Amino acid sequence: MWDVLSTASSTVTADPLQVLQQVWGYPAFRGPQEAIVRHVIGGGSGLVLMPTGGGKSLCYQVPALCRPGLAVVVSPLIALMQDQVAALQQLGVAAAALHSGHEADAVGDIWHQLQAGSLKLLYVSPERLLSGDLLARLGPTISLFAIDEAHCVSQWGHDFRPEYIELGILAQRFPAVPRLALTATADPRTRDEIIARLQLEAGQVFLASFDRPNIRYILRGKQQTRQQLLDFLADHRGEAGIVYARSRSRVDAMAAQVRQAGIDAVAYHAGLSSEQRSNALQHFRNDAAVVVVATIAFGMGIDKPDVRFVAHVDLPKSLEAYYQETGRAGRDGLPAVAWMLHGPGDIPQLRRFIDDSSAPEEHKRIEHSKLEALIAYSEAAGCRRQVLLRHFGEELPQPCGNCDGCLEPRALVDLTVPAQKLLSAVARTGQRFGAAHVVDVLLGGSTDKIRQLGHDQLSVHGIGRELDRSQWRTLVRQLGGLGYLQPVPGGKGGLQLGPAASVRPLLRGEVSLELPLPQPQRNARNGTSAPPARTTGAMAGLDGDLEVDEALLTALRTWRREQARQQGVPPYLVFHDRTLMELAAQQPTTLEALGRIGGIGTAKLSRYGEALLGVLSASAV
Ligand code: ADP
Ligand code: ZN
Repeated sequence: MWDVLSTASSTVTADPLQVLQQVWGYPAFRGPQEAIVRHVIGGGSGLVLMPTGGGKSLCYQVPALCRPGLAVVVSPLIALMQDQVAALQQLGVAAAALHSGHEADAVGDIWHQLQAGSLKLLYVSPERLLSGDLLARLGPTISLFAIDEAHCVSQWGHDFRPEYIELGILAQRFPAVPRLALTATADPRTRDEIIARLQLEAGQVFLASFDRPNIRYILRGKQQTRQQLLDFLADHRGEAGIVYARSRSRVDAMAAQVRQAGIDAVAYHAGLSSEQRSNALQHFRNDAAVVVVATIAFGMGIDKPDVRFVAHVDLPKSLEAYYQETGRAGRDGLPAVAWMLHGPGDIPQLRRFIDDSSAPEEHKRIEHSKLEALIAYSEAAGCRRQVLLRHFGEELPQPCGNCDGCLEPRALVDLTVPAQKLLSAVARTGQRFGAAHVVDVLLGGSTDKIRQLGHDQLSVHGIGRELDRSQWRTLVRQLGGLGYLQPVPGGKGGLQLGPAASVRPLLRGEVSLELPLPQPQRNARNGTSAPPARTTGAMAGLDGDLEVDEALLTALRTWRREQARQQGVPPYLVFHDRTLMELAAQQPTTLEALGRIGGIGTAKLSRYGEALLGVLSASAV
């Protein structure tokens, strides 16, 4: 199994496509990968902007095998390094990681390999790389530098790592060695900062599309968070996913509720001990069907490819954050869902968080504008993906066909009069009640609260029967998003009117409001399984064309779990789901045919080939 690799390392001109096919077992490069790989093999530097799951790793791993010497990969997290190294070792590539978690003799072993010149890739943290004499010792053998998660150099981002800034010196110390920075963060400010700090001005920028066509974007109005979440999870039984909630206490409560419903779930937030967190992470990595309920502390470092859904029960704080969090779904390219609940109070609350923070005014302004982008997205009448991509400077020429806006189109309706009624009801009830009570009044309810307060005597009582409860809540949310309603300062979910300058023209009918209105609720389920997927161009070929034998797939999964267990690695490092699905569809009977399956390169073929043929023939009828 060393043939390919020794060829690759001794021959400078090793053909990258051949390396891709033999080592990884993939038939072709994706998107800009080939251009990037050839640029780096030719000695060029640059910055790669590619979404999560886009295939950034190959952009430096293939050149690492095509250029003589050792590729040094800078990575911010031990977990990321370990995963990458284990994956490369599965492919028969000589890779190692140097980090603080190592035992002394493991380090000795790595030094030995380095001296012998047998390593092709070395993963290392920035502080380790720059401390001591590591660089001096490696110096002459370095074939390239890859700087992964390069946005860590940006002080604007939430992943800022001061040590990343020091990496700028690589440019002066190794002017002849190609340096490739990679990130999934697309915003122009971060991009410019990476280029400046890592001194990549003379390099090339490679920008891939940030579309994630296999992710289906679904938004739902918040009615009963717990029940809606449980219904959603019921539609996704047997799948791995992440549920994001705003606070630690909500995470704990929700994880418990999900477990009570008989779903394997773990909580994850910064308030847990490091042991609890690492257990949760371990469980998530090793199991195909576990749900992690988490705060945003569960983030970078998760590169599990088969996360089938990301659910938000609270709005994230910006569209960038939403994109990044949902991007953890479907890295393997198979269909995945990003599902989010948004309630009437969410946006006013997020606005208040920003206002009440101690950040400088300039910073607050930026936060507010980021929030506005999220509001525009969550209230979009049409295709969500078009709004999302436009925010990142990309135009999607046609509606995507794979979001709720496309799958369940809603017409724009003139809601000026209902909006006036709603604002009047808020005003007449004294600008201190939450959405639930105000809507009760509009619908002419006679709850205890309404009777005690005498709100059934108000002129607004019962004037809103043209909309149902869920439609009114949608309108409350929309008016909150537009600033016509805002939370009572310090109140517990109470609403008051927005600034008079904007509210008055609406009440006088000088402006009109056209908004999308959901269908009246007929006890509808909120799951994502109802409307059949229309396969778009980008989706075709992902899944739909595979006629998978389910029993065989199960047998393959069982076999994979056992292999993974024996080796102490997560199952996806043995084979990705996509590979198992291709196997279960094509059912190859020879080693040669096996080698043509995507994801089975030379090393995996020789390691697992016979065993796989055994599983395939045992299950054949
Ligand atoms: P990123 O680091 O950009 O999030 P990865 O490098 O982890 O993405 O790649 C995502 C997935 O896509 C991995 O499972 C990888 O093996 C797969 N992949 C990458 N490039 C190709 C390709 N050219 N053909 C097939 N699969 C690919
Ligand atoms: Zn769409």
